[in-house]
Amino acid sequence: YETEMARLAQLNLVGEMAAGIAHEIRNPMTTIRGFLQLFRNSQGRMDNEYIEIMLEELDRANDIITEYLSLAKNKRTYQNAMQLNRILETLSPLIQAEAVMTGKHFHVHYGECPDVQLDDKEIRQLILNICINGLEAMEAGGKLTVQTYSESEHVILKISDEGGGIQTEHLEKLGRPFFTTKEHGTGLGLAVCYSIAARHNAKIEVQSSPAGTTFTIKFIIPVPILV
Ligand code: ADP
Ligand code: MG
Repeated sequence: YETEMARLAQLNLVGEMAAGIAHEIRNPMTTIRGFLQLFRNSQGRMDNEYIEIMLEELDRANDIITEYLSLAKNKRTYQNAMQLNRILETLSPLIQAEAVMTGKHFHVHYGECPDVQLDDKEIRQLILNICINGLEAMEAGGKLTVQTYSESEHVILKISDEGGGIQTEHLEKLGRPFFTTKEHGTGLGLAVCYSIAARHNAKIEVQSSPAGTTFTIKFIIPVPILV
């Protein structure tokens, strides 16, 4: 059941997304076209530097499309009862490597977590997107901390960084497709996270100060059915 308002809001979002996608894909295409024209006019000689830029632009266009596809509202999820810690264990070496490359620290604290319904691919993506944002927000030497624990009816995932924080006027824009403050950002990472959280009936809370940002994701522990 959907109200007319909700349906209109959804249509509007689809339109906005389509416009956004068109814009975001057209930029890299324009850049690449320009370089190819240059290439033609120079009788086939081309700087490696330009080739690098073209490859980066193609990758960016590809990222935008991949992330856009995982936003699809009616995307199927494959959720199974499992421990959040298991997913985190397989993911942390990847985040660790990413942190080390840029001179940052990464710590994980595994708390006790009962099974919750999770789509492991989607949850990996959610954790990764938020962690990458945290790493990108910090200078070298900064620490990214991931923590899991459970509270009466929730399994909780906390991701904290020591970056410069999110401006108050930007907080409400988080998760809006194409909202980015980065020169080469897609502005889709958090939109994907919010849509994954919605499919899991999970809540995302954000606390931010100039000393850092914490994302808290709360998953509902299923109530056992007594027969
Ligand atoms: P992108 O990373 O491509 O910019 P995201 O959707 O992942 O897109 O994030 C949107 C924006 O939210 C970022 O550009 C940044 O301004 C802000 N943001 C997200 N996470 C953090 C964080 N941990 N610290 C500071 N700003 C953040
Ligand atoms: Mg991001």
